[in-house]
Amino acid sequence: MTTAEELHAYRHRRSRQKHSGCISMLVLLIGIGISLVFWPVGIPICLLALVIDGQRDRYHICGYCGNQLTATARICPTCKATLHKEPFWSPRRFRMIVTSLILLAILIASISILATQVPPP
Ligand SMILES: [Zn+2]
Repeated sequence: MTTAEELHAYRHRRSRQKHSGCISMLVLLIGIGISLVFWPVGIPICLLALVIDGQRDRYHICGYCGNQLTATARICPTCKATLHKEPFWSPRRFRMIVTSLILLAILIASISILATQVPPP
């Protein structure tokens, strides 16, 4: 047993897109385009784009050395750091949630502005 100073690190969750971002972006653009003409069809297509974007491979990494880990690892196999679960309100997660809320607000606002500009039949 060594008395070397123990390393502590967070086990960060990461995700990687399964598809290239182009597919969901293309579907989103088609959805917005159709929304301009007929929003009851266009908005589900926009939602489909978000679903495609949400399909990600999830994995964990060591917060100290960046090595990829299993979800249940307690000690990093590479740097031997003791791993802790990342707290829910980490600054990184907070930024991510705020960013997605802003993007969602912009999306809803632009769709509702566009929807009101459609001339009545
Ligand atoms: Zn490590």
